[in-house]
Amino acid sequence: MAEVNFPALEEKILRFWQQNNIFSKTISQRRRATNFVFYEGPPTANGHPGIHHVEARCFKDIICRYKTMRGFRVIRKAGWDTHGLPVELQIEKQLGLNSKKEIEKYGIEKFNRECRKSVWLYKKDWENLTERIGFWIDMKNPYITYEPEYIETVWWLLKKIWEKGLLYKDYKVLPYCPRCGTGLSSHEVAQGYKKVKENSLYLRFNLISSDPQWQNTAILSWTTTPWTLPGNVALAVGPEIEYVKVPDSAKENYWLVIAKPNLNLLFQQGIIKPLSEEELKSYPHFKGSILAGLKYQPLFKVPELETERSYQVYPADFITSEEGTGVVHTAVMYGEEDYQLGKKAGLPTFHTVTEEGRFIEGLEGGLAGLEVKHPETEKIITSLIEERGTLFQEYLYEHDYPFCWRCKTALLYYAKPGWFIAMRQVKKNLLI
Ligand SMILES: [Zn+2]
Repeated sequence: MAEVNFPALEEKILRFWQQNNIFSKTISQRRRATNFVFYEGPPTANGHPGIHHVEARCFKDIICRYKTMRGFRVIRKAGWDTHGLPVELQIEKQLGLNSKKEIEKYGIEKFNRECRKSVWLYKKDWENLTERIGFWIDMKNPYITYEPEYIETVWWLLKKIWEKGLLYKDYKVLPYCPRCGTGLSSHEVAQGYKKVKENSLYLRFNLISSDPQWQNTAILSWTTTPWTLPGNVALAVGPEIEYVKVPDSAKENYWLVIAKPNLNLLFQQGIIKPLSEEELKSYPHFKGSILAGLKYQPLFKVPELETERSYQVYPADFITSEEGTGVVHTAVMYGEEDYQLGKKAGLPTFHTVTEEGRFIEGLEGGLAGLEVKHPETEKIITSLIEERGTLFQEYLYEHDYPFCWRCKTALLYYAKPGWFIAMRQVKKNLLI
């Protein structure tokens, strides 16, 4: 069999395409055909192209070629992404800046000018690669995200979306660095996990009920983030999970509600005393749905969080038996699942923590203004809930926790306000 030299073969075909203007002919010779318009999701030219770009572009190219073969007039428009984090990070590094605040000090306009200069650094490499991999795209008339025409188009689109009532303000819970003042992408979060040993807390949430079966009874819950406790507004239980009411070993004539599947784990951790099968059987068993709607005493007094729906037990579908007590302490603004549950239940969206990672002014218990993730602050929180009779036990817990890759600060899961487009409402039309 004859040896085939693939690179030579490819170059021969590329030359043929170029010399005969094949790409432009697929458009110019089909004036009457139906358009199929492709805008490339624009690459950033301040970095070298990599093999992953080749892969993504193969998919893009295949779809367009397929449409061409089906008789469409396929217009392929190139673009350059000149905005966003990749550009800013590169310039930050170059100028030795480490935070949003330092950029502001340096001057936003000056910083933007540096960014603008940097975005064309590897344009030539990109063009060479584009040509060599045989990716057909009109690079002579690209859209560039920093040009006023492009920006105005985006504004025009947003206005249209607003007029249709599809633009709305909401929160999104993000891994957030309170020192840098910025949310982190999942890629960035993945770079900063560290094993930490810290105090987690098992807590009593004392039930308020006139029903005799809930007198002198608390629901036991667990948290690894004591700083979220002032923001607690709900407890989540699995409606189909079996719960059991057992005696509180640390408080006479008192009872604790715990998910039955979690008991073994709690025995092993030494949180509660082992119970014999016989003994366990003698205590009341019930499904989580029975607990839904029960009210409990708030741990902290936060007037903004007091509504008719607050400080209640809600059913949820994210409860597991792998850790904790099968009851999840819910602080609406500090966890994605918490936020979703809060939205469904109509719970207040109020921050007890500032964007600087400190407790808000006016928070009771001497917590106002304190750095929330500081070990000293956690000690104060622990002693406060101990004074109030709600601390059941501290437990030293080892787990992976994310830190900011830039400044090593512990990240907080934090609800940040933002604008959203209600895509779900138009999904059906888009898929037809
Ligand atoms: Zn940071």
